[in-house]
Amino acid sequence: MARYTGPVCKLCRRERIKLFLKGERCNTGKCSITRRKNAPGAKAVPMRKKQSNYGIQLREKQKLKRIYGVLEKQFKIYFMKAEKQKGITGNNLLIFLERRLDNIVYHLNWAASRSQARQLVKHGLLIVNNKRVNIPSFLAKSGDEIKIKENSNIDKLVKDSVKSRGQKSIPSWLVVDNKRISAKVLRFPEREDISIPINEQLVVELYSR
Ligand code: SF4
Repeated sequence: MARYTGPVCKLCRRERIKLFLKGERCNTGKCSITRRKNAPGAKAVPMRKKQSNYGIQLREKQKLKRIYGVLEKQFKIYFMKAEKQKGITGNNLLIFLERRLDNIVYHLNWAASRSQARQLVKHGLLIVNNKRVNIPSFLAKSGDEIKIKENSNIDKLVKDSVKSRGQKSIPSWLVVDNKRISAKVLRFPEREDISIPINEQLVVELYSR
């Protein structure tokens, strides 16, 4: 299945919640979700008053996939791995998603959004433990050292991104050195470190049907 390349604001309107798919630009006041309350294409179609349990669970899964920019097949694989691991399946699922390299680059403020972070990774600009990694779904582990490939143009782009997003703090499981544009994964994230507006239990219930 191809990756969605249409207007991302439509996805937020579909879920009726700000998913922050454009990163910091979502805070500028021009957010579609505050200007247009109806779901895309829903002008003529009245919304059903009550959603079924299945519908609620499905929407929660879609939200989670859209926040991290993950396709259905890969998402299902994360879920199956999460189920096999010890602990709470929903937490395990979120931790897999958080450990993705594109998500970490976004958290480090090296890109304005997760999709921009994905582009940086795909273009081979990330070095993990002294090896080039161009797979956005690469799962980082404790002790991994992450830096940007030495390239003055990209260094500048990343430094500009850090400068403009300086107010956004990074999660406590990561540490960053913005002078050297390098970072380290201190530990795996925990549920308390993940602040996205998701009820992951609904996703677990959906897949357990
Ligand atoms: Fe979503 Fe951001 Fe667009 Fe608002 S501006 S609808 S939060 S992508």
